[in-house]
Amino acid sequence: MIRFERVTKRYPGGHEALADVSFEIRHGELVVLGGHSGAGKSTLIKLIAALEKPTAGKVWVSGQDVGSLRPNQVPYLRRSLGLVMQEHRLLTDRTVFDNVMLPLLVTGYPPKDAAKRVRVALDKVGMGAFEQVMPMTLSGGEQHRVAIARAIVNRPSVLIADEPTAHLDPAYAREIAALFRSFHQAGVTILLATHDETLFSPYGSRRIELDHGRLVA
Ligand code: ADP
Ligand code: ADP
Repeated sequence: MIRFERVTKRYPGGHEALADVSFEIRHGELVVLGGHSGAGKSTLIKLIAALEKPTAGKVWVSGQDVGSLRPNQVPYLRRSLGLVMQEHRLLTDRTVFDNVMLPLLVTGYPPKDAAKRVRVALDKVGMGAFEQVMPMTLSGGEQHRVAIARAIVNRPSVLIADEPTAHLDPAYAREIAALFRSFHQAGVTILLATHDETLFSPYGSRRIELDHGRLVA
């Protein structure tokens, strides 16, 4: 489903954020991506979503070489992934409901079914009561849960999350971890970057670890 082939990423003027990284994630796996702050976890995720390009090597997602996609193909890649990034970019001039509706509008979902799906997604993350609220009035953790709802509303076959439990209090973090587990049990392929590895270790997930841009486990 996801394959890195000797991938190196060097930012302009910087050192190597990723150095010669190779690994593979198979369909239906739940993989936890660990490593210290600055190890390269966000960079790895950005390469999968074509938010950055590799300096060397290849990134494959569902059989496609992400680095060779034309600009007009990139939106299709992103729509096939459920992405939860750290800067979650909720639209501040729209309600929670409309933010979560957005991916369904883009794919031309019938409005009535779409509204139902939005409510299901918001209920899953415990934000059902907030659908008419503007995102800026929510706490960081609540905004993060809305971003997770937005990422799953399309029922993507691959879900990728960068520190999905980082801003949450422990009870919500456990709930979100259980939520990811339920997606995994439903057959979704999942890659999670997290410091909170103990949250996911009971689920017998596979673990890969970065250290200063190198894959060490
Ligand atoms: P993590 O997600 O594990 O904290 P990152 O992928 O964010 O790690 O960062 C890896 C390294 O790349 C760090 O040294 C970071 O400072 C650097 N880096 C990340 N983004 C950029 C950028 N846009 N420009 C320059 N350096 C960057
Ligand atoms: P463009 O500017 O080329 O339209 P965007 O960066 O706005 O591309 O993102 C396109 C799609 O990728 C969005 O519909 C969104 O679902 C997804 N996406 C991009 N960045 C993020 C992010 N930080 N968090 C969640 N989804 C994102």
